[in-house]
Amino acid sequence: MQSIETKCVQGGYTPKNGEPRQIPIIQSTTFKYESSREMAKLFDLEASGYFYSRLQNPTCDTVAAKICELEGGTAAMLTSSGQAASFFSIFNIAQAGDHIISSSSIYGGTFNLFNVTMRKMGIEFTFVSPYSTEEELNRAFKPNTKAVFGETIANPALVVLDIEKFANAAHAHGCPLIIDNTFATPVNCRPFEWGADIVIHSTTKYLDGHGSAVGGCIVDSGKFDWTKYPDRYPGLCTPDESYHGVTYTERFGLAGAYITKATAQLMRDLGSIQSPQSAYLLNLGIESLHLRIKQHCKNALAVAKHLENHQKIAWVKYCGLESDKDYELAKKYLPDGSCGVVAFGVKGGRAAAEKFMANLKIAAIETHVADARSCCLHPASATHRQLSDDELIAAGVTPDLIRFSCGIEGTQDLISDIDQALENI
Ligand SMILES: *Cc1c(COP(=O)(O)O)cnc(C)c1O
Repeated sequence: MQSIETKCVQGGYTPKNGEPRQIPIIQSTTFKYESSREMAKLFDLEASGYFYSRLQNPTCDTVAAKICELEGGTAAMLTSSGQAASFFSIFNIAQAGDHIISSSSIYGGTFNLFNVTMRKMGIEFTFVSPYSTEEELNRAFKPNTKAVFGETIANPALVVLDIEKFANAAHAHGCPLIIDNTFATPVNCRPFEWGADIVIHSTTKYLDGHGSAVGGCIVDSGKFDWTKYPDRYPGLCTPDESYHGVTYTERFGLAGAYITKATAQLMRDLGSIQSPQSAYLLNLGIESLHLRIKQHCKNALAVAKHLENHQKIAWVKYCGLESDKDYELAKKYLPDGSCGVVAFGVKGGRAAAEKFMANLKIAAIETHVADARSCCLHPASATHRQLSDDELIAAGVTPDLIRFSCGIEGTQDLISDIDQALENI
């Protein structure tokens, strides 16, 4: 098997004699056929091929195949954003009247999607602590539970999920575990190796890595046996009348059923495709992912260690620190490094945090993370601005919390920049 480095550079695409070395951007909405009969076979899913880029596009599929190889899956698809990937990953196997269990420590956008928008669609969510015991997890399941969801490293709380524990609980109740692996990336953690069944990404973050294109991806491990629970997953195990009675698990096997259904039904009806241009940029980013991640992690650990001993810093959260609550989990799941994001509090609360950030010269204030350029955000004055200090604490975001995303600049430059910004508060 090839190394993760080689997969980053060359995965998903092997040009034949005389073909372009770099993946071609197929900037075409549609594809030409010689006869209506050939086209009909595509529509009936009897033959594979491209007919309209709202469903599938060759450039997007090439990049999806690379991410699939990186994660060790059997099938994958790109989506227009990480949000679309999260939504599709669940909506592909759940509908009104169903129930989902999610870690409470997840990205704010995902929390809103689940807790507000998908609730309006009639899907019920139970949020459990990522530190739940086995018994606490077991108690959260209901007869209509369809999936369990969590993040390898939560954004912005930076909590590490015990993937194996969550996978075991999900499987004991006949459900798949869906993991958002955005912050760890497949270079640092491959959740399928720990029992996860489906992985999603906001490719907008480290995979792209250059703040160039919003995107998402869903990867299936092909390991979850839907056919053991045909009543729980009728969409995969019984005929789809909107596709002339195809039964996805029968026609495409466990390796392809989930992603084929998501493409054939959800992409067809909701159309959250990534553009070929964005997919091309994403692929360029992934080519250097393995190199960038090392520097992101090196910088973050150095910054976290430096801040830990700084007298103007109230607290630091980074799972690479030996003092961190999640250090043992990180050693198990993230032995080569975790991510480039560090959370910390500046003494003096909200005012000091704002002053500190305004003083930074290298790190810019942005609603973004996981970029080659360092950036930072003070949620209390940006994404969580509407909340009072009390409400912030209830949401797990203290008024002094700064989310600092270490880029791939020089380590000492980042530390010096932070030092001068703290000095001048
Ligand atoms: C940013 C992010 C998302 C949402 O992705 P978008 O590409 O912004 O839609 C989902 N999960 C995590 C962990 C994220 O950081």
